[in-house]
Amino acid sequence: MARTPLMAGNWKMNLDHLEANQLIQKLSFTLADAGYDPSQSEAVVIPPFTDIRTVQTAIDADSVPLKYGAQNVSTHDNGAFTGDISTAMLVKLGCSYVVVGHSERREYHGETNEIVGEKAKKVLDAGMVPIMCCGEALDIRKEGTHVDFVLGQISQMLAPLSAQQVAQSVIAYEPIWAIGTGEVATPADAQEVCGAIRRHVAELFDQTTADAVRIQYGGSVKASNVRDIMAQPDVDGALVGGASLKPEEFAKIIMFYA
Ligand code: PEP
Repeated sequence: MARTPLMAGNWKMNLDHLEANQLIQKLSFTLADAGYDPSQSEAVVIPPFTDIRTVQTAIDADSVPLKYGAQNVSTHDNGAFTGDISTAMLVKLGCSYVVVGHSERREYHGETNEIVGEKAKKVLDAGMVPIMCCGEALDIRKEGTHVDFVLGQISQMLAPLSAQQVAQSVIAYEPIWAIGTGEVATPADAQEVCGAIRRHVAELFDQTTADAVRIQYGGSVKASNVRDIMAQPDVDGALVGGASLKPEEFAKIIMFYA
């Protein structure tokens, strides 16, 4: 089954809306100059909430071949939830993707696998695609129990979803020890866990669902290492932090296939 690679740039809490506009312009020129072909890889930017309207306008105005999304969403529809943002608000802004359960949300905001599953369901019910993050910390990797740990996360996160919903979703395997550290999992490390996730999805649901779900690797992905990571059979894309803030570097990551 052909799965279109998904290269997503998570800007985290970086860039105000003016800087966001500049980055989209530069990324757009760089991709056009390099002959980017969206059928070879889907490119997505994930800015802070305050930048989304600007990103939408910049992309729509010039029909830039980029999609965009949000870094988080509420489990509630509306009401007295100060500081939260609903799925309906993101849909209205034209978002296609929402990252749920990033390790920084888990660490600083107490998000559990159950909350991540609930958010993923909300995102799918609203017609967007969740990028569901999972991954182990360094102590678990050192113990050698990382595959079991990640599969446990997957079982709990996918519990509220139907097979059809899982098939439309994206799972991002991001070993926490490789995020923002410059420490990259080897391509074989990435394949070990991404392959195990796909087999687990087949056990939990069925082979058709496992063949359809896209599984990304994330953790210090750069232009210099993206090809080897993308050459792994169960790696269908990358979730990129730091390198997505540099338009030329991110364009090379998006065009890993060239
Ligand atoms: C991330 O935050 O999801 C990430 C992978 O960051 P970085 O690429 O900077 O390691």
